[in-house]
Amino acid sequence: MMQWTVRLEVRTSAGEVKTTELVTISRPAVVSTLAEVGLALAETKALLAKLQASMLCGQVAEYAVHHRACVACGALQPLKDRRTRRLQTLFGTVEVEAPRFKLCRCRQPAPMAGVTVSPVCALLTARCTPELERVQAELGARTSFREAARLLDTLLPASPANQESVRIRTHAVARQLEADDRQTAAEVTAAPHKPDKAAAADASRPVVMLDGAYIRAMPGHQVRDFEAICGKVEHEGHPTRRFALVRSVAEQPHALLRAALQDQGWREGDAVTTISDGDPALPALVRSATGGPVEHILDWFHLSMRVQHVEQVMRGLCALELPPLAPLDRAQIDVERLRHLLWNGHHEKVCEALGRITSWAQDVIVLNIPVVDAKGRRLVARCAELRSYIESNEGALIDYGERYRAGKPISTSRAEGTVNNLVNARMNKRRQMRWSPRGAHRVLQVRAAVLDGRFGHPAIQLAA
Ligand SMILES: [Zn+2]
Repeated sequence: MMQWTVRLEVRTSAGEVKTTELVTISRPAVVSTLAEVGLALAETKALLAKLQASMLCGQVAEYAVHHRACVACGALQPLKDRRTRRLQTLFGTVEVEAPRFKLCRCRQPAPMAGVTVSPVCALLTARCTPELERVQAELGARTSFREAARLLDTLLPASPANQESVRIRTHAVARQLEADDRQTAAEVTAAPHKPDKAAAADASRPVVMLDGAYIRAMPGHQVRDFEAICGKVEHEGHPTRRFALVRSVAEQPHALLRAALQDQGWREGDAVTTISDGDPALPALVRSATGGPVEHILDWFHLSMRVQHVEQVMRGLCALELPPLAPLDRAQIDVERLRHLLWNGHHEKVCEALGRITSWAQDVIVLNIPVVDAKGRRLVARCAELRSYIESNEGALIDYGERYRAGKPISTSRAEGTVNNLVNARMNKRRQMRWSPRGAHRVLQVRAAVLDGRFGHPAIQLAA
């Protein structure tokens, strides 16, 4: 038999050395299998738990002793009673002594008032350590609460490691993140006036890319699905900042976006560019967040998808045997030009071309050939869709080619990556997860912070 005993040597500030035995591990003198070599997980968890308890109790006891002396006269305050408090940590729940002292007579408001003080209770401001809360929230944002709890329980002596505590902590951290964002948004951030640099600032204004995602609602909610708005703020010289919100439950949706912009160096009055699809609510959110000038660009990706719909139907028609009387070639050329024209900002010419394609398609429908008829009608419908999309977003259409050549973003495809990262990977419908709007909103707050790498930031005070 071989034995390993782990002893903890503690040296106090007074120079006193105390030794505590933590664990003893035994193995056969000559091991016979690979599994017997080295530490086992269970032993490691036990060791960590003992180490944590020993360290924590020692620190808290020292703290209580230090605070027993009256702050006014230095006399030792009399002990009233000994209570205990429990603190949850990544390395187990530790019960610590929390003695209560009678307030020194020199500070009692009245003789016999009997006021007591409990310094340990003043130190333990939360039921868990900030680190446990942060780790539970981070795991809860990355994976399901159940899976997060299982992971913690597998690897650490953390307690409690159940899905309910993971859920509660994730929500608590989300509320804190949101409160921080609201505070950031409320701070006055007027930009110093610098007219000579206005043009330069204009060249590198922050770009907000917005997109929506649908999340399946829990039974009992009036809707089957609800929408989460996700996005990204990109600004030269700053790391990308994600944000996400469920508008119906966010206390101040615009404040969350405003805080994201401020994190990216945006200041009150600075112009912002936003790229989104045709939903007018999205640029409206940016406007309410900045309270200032917003340049809205219709997302090239969504626009290009609608062009593709027209192209696809046209290809289908071309594959059919059409009678020679239909001027197919001209319509085909028009369809092929759509993308190029839009890319270069000639949307009036696109509308003219769509008119010609539509009237050609109507000529084809008149021919009354069943298979051609259906496709012809579909072409008319797709052209009408594209046309009304262009007309209702006219102010947001730009010369995409020019902007692209200048190296500026023209599409929310990057925001869609954000949607995938933020929403789909955690709340995917295929995983049959159902959410309450509030639950989804909160997980999204933490998830955005985790994905941004904002989470370990010391400025974020996580424990309540
Ligand atoms: Zn005193």
